[in-house]
Amino acid sequence: MSAPIDGTHEAALRSWVDSANVPDTDFPIQNLPLGVFGRGGQPRSRIGCAIGDQVLDLEACAEHGLLRGLPEDVEAACRTASLNGLMGLEPRLRGTLRHRLSHLLRAEGGFVTARTHTEDVLVPQADAEMRMPADVGDYTDFYASIFHATNVGRMLRPDSPLLPNYRWVPIGYHGRASSLVVSGTAIRRPSGQTAPRRDEPPAFGPSRSLDYELEVGAFLGPGNAPGTSIPLAEAEDHLFGLCLVNDWSARDVQRWEYQPLGPFLAKSFATSLSPWVVTAEALAPFRVPAFSRPEGDPEPLPHLRHEDDAARGGIDLRLEVKLSSETMRREGHPPIVVSQSNLKDIYWTLAQLVAHHSSNGCNLRPGDLIASGTVSGPEKENRGCLLERTWRGSEPLTLPTGEERRFLENGDEVVLLGHCARDGFARIGFGECRGVVV
Ligand code: MN
Repeated sequence: MSAPIDGTHEAALRSWVDSANVPDTDFPIQNLPLGVFGRGGQPRSRIGCAIGDQVLDLEACAEHGLLRGLPEDVEAACRTASLNGLMGLEPRLRGTLRHRLSHLLRAEGGFVTARTHTEDVLVPQADAEMRMPADVGDYTDFYASIFHATNVGRMLRPDSPLLPNYRWVPIGYHGRASSLVVSGTAIRRPSGQTAPRRDEPPAFGPSRSLDYELEVGAFLGPGNAPGTSIPLAEAEDHLFGLCLVNDWSARDVQRWEYQPLGPFLAKSFATSLSPWVVTAEALAPFRVPAFSRPEGDPEPLPHLRHEDDAARGGIDLRLEVKLSSETMRREGHPPIVVSQSNLKDIYWTLAQLVAHHSSNGCNLRPGDLIASGTVSGPEKENRGCLLERTWRGSEPLTLPTGEERRFLENGDEVVLLGHCARDGFARIGFGECRGVVV
């Protein structure tokens, strides 16, 4: 079952951290996302919780006895340098941390507060160097948006854009964990092989069609033993939280290499993650029914079908991509919005992806990352990558400087944003996933 709505979601809650009470902040007291950061240039990493424009340092909280009374495993995990320990705990245990953080940061009525230790436990986000939130053992990228799959398929196979397996089996490939990088890391343009021109050998050189992909990543919680599988009804308990993912892609390299085994070097050079993990608990108010399959589409097979998943398996998460060229930034133009979509439009729920991934007995582990695949929607402005947005370069975008974009140029900066909003609840945001092409 997905996490319930409780007192930590009440819209009326206020924090003694003033910046958390500003209406459009990504990090009000109802969010409480977790991340890993370094303090003042120190090499040591610590776990933090974003609150307004500050970070609450969980190790410092533990030092001051502010985590006392939590289950031992929870406090011990908060003193480590990655989220893997917390991710490995069952939801009931990790839920105690959310409640404690909510009390520590409340403006009033908390039986325990971090306010009396402000100088030790709060770090301005501007002074916190964000790092990878977890040691990711394995990274799997799916292809869960039927709009994305259909658009890409139409470019390759106009007559039968969607392959016959798509509506039955969640399509994915094993990505590369070693080249996952945190937001802000510069992205070096990859080189690779591209398709031969007539009667010539293929060429090797810098990619000429570098793209972004707007995706959502899910960090996995407790794993499963090898040879066992996670039933769909239990899959939500294995989802720890979400972040934004930019699956940078070299389209020219991809086109030449992807058959017959799928993407490889076109994707494995870099994948950017937003640093704050918005927990499954924080997302409870924004759960919606799973994507409703068009008339005539088959029901999923029994192991990928469950009434709770159909009723609450979706997440209303609004996504956006902003782009700016070096010239735009130099001339003072704000970035332009190039894609807007919503996670609720993906064909397979995150829980279905977990159930499918483990259905063959593959063991998933705490801190593993699964990504949705490019999240596109039905309209042109919902297309979550440039390949779709410019239709393989045939409909270039015009920037405010008059520059044209088919694919990314050096100096281009891509920023992914995401937030959840619903009447009666506080808006929560994901922060940003930023990268400049160099
Ligand atoms: Mn992808």
